[in-house]
Amino acid sequence: MESPLPSKSVFLTGASSGIGAAIARLLVARGHRVWATARRMDMLEAVAEEAAAGAQGEGRMVPYALDVLDPAAQQEAVARCVAAFGGLDVAIPNAGLGVFSPMDQADLADWHTMVDVNVKGVLTTLHVCLPHLIESSGLVVQIGSVASRMVFPNSGVYCATKHAVLAMGEAIRQDLKSQVASTTICPGAVDTSFIEQTRDPSLLDQYRPGFKQGMQPEFVALQVLHAMEARGQGVISDITIRPDLA
Ligand code: NDP
Repeated sequence: MESPLPSKSVFLTGASSGIGAAIARLLVARGHRVWATARRMDMLEAVAEEAAAGAQGEGRMVPYALDVLDPAAQQEAVARCVAAFGGLDVAIPNAGLGVFSPMDQADLADWHTMVDVNVKGVLTTLHVCLPHLIESSGLVVQIGSVASRMVFPNSGVYCATKHAVLAMGEAIRQDLKSQVASTTICPGAVDTSFIEQTRDPSLLDQYRPGFKQGMQPEFVALQVLHAMEARGQGVISDITIRPDLA
């Protein structure tokens, strides 16, 4: 089904798997143009093939290799997206990871990676995209988490990074409310490869079943589409979604 919206230009990070891949496939199926980025190009190409098979109208996905930790590369990626699509309507800084462990057993490098990707990577995407979004009266859709509002055992630093994401969504709302809309989606467990970043085998055994029984990434993607289609009627500032009761 084609979206009631005219085709939008979308910049997306973390599109090679899980939630990002589902967002890319759904938006292309609804006629939107997605500049889809991640580091693993082979996986991005596979997502692009799936997206092309379901494309409607002007819908297309451009796979583009990007490490969000490289600000100059993000600048270049967004410039190419804007040039190819003739502007930017929606930015989705989705790339992120969580490495779970008790605080006293954590690897400092893992803490730094989470802060670098989940906070600094997102901030870079926002910084690079906002001037274009101001021009288009566009939309930022961030992927927060239930961990944006709560702190869970074994994941304090991950929770801190997701609190920061929600704070940035609110900051955009306050500073740019007449120019750029901001939605932060806060999912509970989603069935993706997310938990596989955790190396502690006993924590993996503990957490894997919960993520396996989590929401499908397509349900998160649907919330992105809702946020886009709400424009003109209202702004979904933030939304929490959790696995069904089953
Ligand atoms: P996945 O592990 O399936 O996807 C993570 C994505 O992030 C991949 O596409 C990966 O691409 C990308 N990524 C990681 N590091 C970098 C980097 N340095 N540069 C560019 N891209 C990077 O997990 P999810 O789909 O579950 O995670 C997506 C988002 O959803 C994250 O922000 C996560 O925190 C959030 N989230 C997930 C939940 C869950 O239960 N799964 C619940 C709530 C929120 P590549 O490795 O190819 O670069």
